[in-house]
Amino acid sequence: MFVCTGYGTQSPTAPLEPLTFNRRDVGENDVEIDILYCGVCHSDLHFARDEWHFTKYPAVPGHEIVGRIKRVGAGVRKYKAGDLVGVGCLVDSCRTCPSCQEGLEQYCDAGMAGGTYGGIERQTGEPTKGGYSEKIVVDEKYVLRIPDNLDPAAAAPLLCAGITLYSPLRHWQAGPGKKVGIIGLGGLGHMGVKLAHAMGAHTVLFTTSPGKVEDGRKLGADEVIISKNAADMALHNNSFDLIIDAVSASHDLEPYFALLKREGTMVQVGAPEHPLPINVFPLLLKRRNFSGSLIGGIRETQEMLDFCGQHNITAEIELISMNYINEAYERMLKSDVKYRFCIDMNTLKA
Ligand code: NAP
Ligand code: ZN
Ligand code: ZN
Repeated sequence: MFVCTGYGTQSPTAPLEPLTFNRRDVGENDVEIDILYCGVCHSDLHFARDEWHFTKYPAVPGHEIVGRIKRVGAGVRKYKAGDLVGVGCLVDSCRTCPSCQEGLEQYCDAGMAGGTYGGIERQTGEPTKGGYSEKIVVDEKYVLRIPDNLDPAAAAPLLCAGITLYSPLRHWQAGPGKKVGIIGLGGLGHMGVKLAHAMGAHTVLFTTSPGKVEDGRKLGADEVIISKNAADMALHNNSFDLIIDAVSASHDLEPYFALLKREGTMVQVGAPEHPLPINVFPLLLKRRNFSGSLIGGIRETQEMLDFCGQHNITAEIELISMNYINEAYERMLKSDVKYRFCIDMNTLKA
């Protein structure tokens, strides 16, 4: 074990502050990564404040990690010291259940025990600690390669926001001839707009923020709809193949169901604190589907990174220093992020 410096919180109501904790030493199949950048996901905030009711304290969030490998275990084959790599929301999984065997580790029968934070590290039995820290030690199987042509800071948010939108876009076959809606221009949503556009879908952004209309277009939306305007919404009734909801707070889903074609699909990726009441009638009337989707498996995450490398896609980031994190959380709650905070981990030492 070695002592690692990071940033975290001791309770749901306390601000994040510097702290130290133990990390395991590099094992046979592990790599030790010096963290360069870590994106700030709204899940970090839900987790730090125990809004999902499983947080163990001290809690160290962060699962959009980019860094350089410092050393590797004797059994490591894919990576060497000096490689630029990423770690997303998973650092382990059971490896034997049907989902793990199919490369869908995010749906592992052991649940999110392999989560980058909030999981349980099998080597030590301790709660896992995330990327708001100087280093992380990860089994090479759960480490991703970052394409050379991407800016490492702006690539960090691909590790969660990117894959969380890429996976349902691929699963429900977004592409030419498909009309795809993305709800919410935050960290996830802005990646959804970029990716759906790059896949060739007719991409429509739904936003509650009139000030984001112009950006939505620049990021790749063919149309932008202010979701509070019922008349504008109704113009699109029965027309969408797929709508992905990337909103962090409870809101009414019913207006979106009516926009789906017969057998169209609405996918929930936003994970609000409180359960959502749902009127099922718009679903019954046109055999519409309502589904969920969780991040993506390791193989698909690498596929997404390579796709982003080919299409030169990264996140729009605001680079922050580690001690700005509490202010960043408050701004995230006000939907005031353009469009992902990313921590420069060099500032942790300062
Ligand atoms: P974010 O950057 O804070 O963006 C959320 C966006 O939702 C805001 O920018 C805003 O967009 C919209 N919004 C916020 N409050 C709203 C309200 N009351 N009504 C309507 N719209 C509202 O958050 P994020 O990091 O993208 O994460 C979004 C959600 O996805 C979080 O709940 C997070 O935990 C979850 N998540 C899920 C997965 C998964 O695997 N399923 C992975 C990562 C994150 P506009 O200003 O455009 O309206
Ligand atoms: Zn996330
Ligand atoms: Zn499994």
